[in-house]
Amino acid sequence: MCHAFFNDSRFYQYLFHIDQEMANEAQSEGCAHCGGRLHVASYPRKPRGIRCALDDSYERRLSFCCATDGCRRRCTPPSVRFLGRKVYLGALVILVTAMEHGLSTKRQKQLIEQLDLYPQTIARWRRWWRKIFPASRCWQAHRGHYIPPIDVSQLPGALLVRLSGKDLQHRVCLLLRLLAPLTTTSWSGCLRVVINPQKM
Ligand SMILES: [Zn+2]
Repeated sequence: MCHAFFNDSRFYQYLFHIDQEMANEAQSEGCAHCGGRLHVASYPRKPRGIRCALDDSYERRLSFCCATDGCRRRCTPPSVRFLGRKVYLGALVILVTAMEHGLSTKRQKQLIEQLDLYPQTIARWRRWWRKIFPASRCWQAHRGHYIPPIDVSQLPGALLVRLSGKDLQHRVCLLLRLLAPLTTTSWSGCLRVVINPQKM
């Protein structure tokens, strides 16, 4: 793989730490509908592609359920690990699609084999970046921060290079944080978590 951190379990542990922080915040706020207590009700997950770098924490998407009878609503906090229902982690979705432009056909084939990816999967991710993401409220709220404007046909690479991280690993974390509100439809709080490169 092109980037060492890609296979580094510490990178994934750091992302879990961020998810845990966001989950703690969501849980402390309680149910958004009735104010009830939130109980842990995580979803089982089996992320594909880089199993060897992931610990048990990656078998669960952190989520909560309201404990109040008659409410019982879900509250799934945002995540920097799981990008909605995609079976590949958000970091992979970013790196594979960003990397794609600069890779030779041979290298692309290797990557596809190494990560057990279908070419259709990459095509679907590409569409997500070009169509779904640009139309999201999340991007509508952010795009004005970039001057000159970012060409959406060059996402995610064009955005990745504009984020002010100290290296690629840091910038991937910043992009995952930017995407985090898009990873859930049952949470509407205010994202306070900070990416700290010292802890990565
Ligand atoms: Zn409730």
